[in-house]
Amino acid sequence: MLVVMKHNAADEHVAEVVRVIKDMGYDARPIPGGQRTAVGLIGNDGRVDAGRLQGLEGVREVIPVTQAYKQVSREWKEDDTLVSLPNGTVVGGSDLVVMAGPCSVEGESVLIDIAHQLKEMGATILRGGAFKPRSSPYSFQGLGEEGLRYLARAREETGMAVVTEALDPAGVQLVAEYADILQIGARNMQNYPLLREVGRAGKPVLLKRGMSATIEEFLLAAEYILAEGNDDVILCERGVRSFAKHTRNLLDLAAIPVVKSLSHLPIIADPSHGTGLRSKVIPMGRAAVAAGADGLMIEVHHDPPRALSDGAQSLYPEQFGEMMSQIRVIAQAIGRDLAAPLRPAVTR
Ligand code: PEP
Ligand code: MN
Repeated sequence: MLVVMKHNAADEHVAEVVRVIKDMGYDARPIPGGQRTAVGLIGNDGRVDAGRLQGLEGVREVIPVTQAYKQVSREWKEDDTLVSLPNGTVVGGSDLVVMAGPCSVEGESVLIDIAHQLKEMGATILRGGAFKPRSSPYSFQGLGEEGLRYLARAREETGMAVVTEALDPAGVQLVAEYADILQIGARNMQNYPLLREVGRAGKPVLLKRGMSATIEEFLLAAEYILAEGNDDVILCERGVRSFAKHTRNLLDLAAIPVVKSLSHLPIIADPSHGTGLRSKVIPMGRAAVAAGADGLMIEVHHDPPRALSDGAQSLYPEQFGEMMSQIRVIAQAIGRDLAAPLRPAVTR
């Protein structure tokens, strides 16, 4: 439930609404807006009697939130959420943000080399898995903390922000010490203890859609993170399972405008996992930008045939550069742009 205050409501009116909500046994979250403040009522799992709130001074109206998810909904917050990173990158604004890098962190110098190239081509966020959720227990599982250290080194050298996956609740603290964004992988989208843990970790979260998740389940997973007090959530459409075998997953492009209308959270697309095929990544990346994605996550490897994971879907660096020039034109055609590249030299 949302208590919308009149535009001239005083601070003490807002405070009284908060007090009454708490007195009713719920939690209250004031949401300041451009025109007026609203106070969100949280902690209820069903209907709440609005009577006590309706008559309070300064209250304009009380709106029940009709979706199962609340804090992630547009009803709750009309304005788009902007997720700001320490390197100045903002996800969710009019500029598109590109996260790129290898599927797995494989070594220090190769990571730093590719980070420099990707940055030159306009990526502002470096991706790379140090803890890998592999379908087979016999596949490469990642370098662990060593990989996190390499990512931190690459950030120091390039100024790029770093996104990397946290696999389990016990590992969140460690990943949060190194990463700028904590990634929750598709396989973990409904790992509720993990979602709660990243909700408390004090870092932005990139939440990937589960391979069989409906949009409602996806948004409810995000709600777990916001419910812990972390509003900095970036959603990621990365393809869902389908009956068809022509691509690894079925990249659900319609999810982008659908999520945009239901939620204020930014949503990016991952055409690498969404297609699983190098030759399909660029066309679907272009399409995702046209569909309104706030950015892309792209796997790029210096030598894809020798990659330790996901080589078949990894772009060569030159292809990534080509994709960047193409998506810039598409972004501009819909009144957006690519985020400005990071400044070339980070002097140390
Ligand atoms: C990844 O980003 O490398 C990854 C494992 O993605 P997903 O969780 O979408 O499969
Ligand atoms: Mn991968």
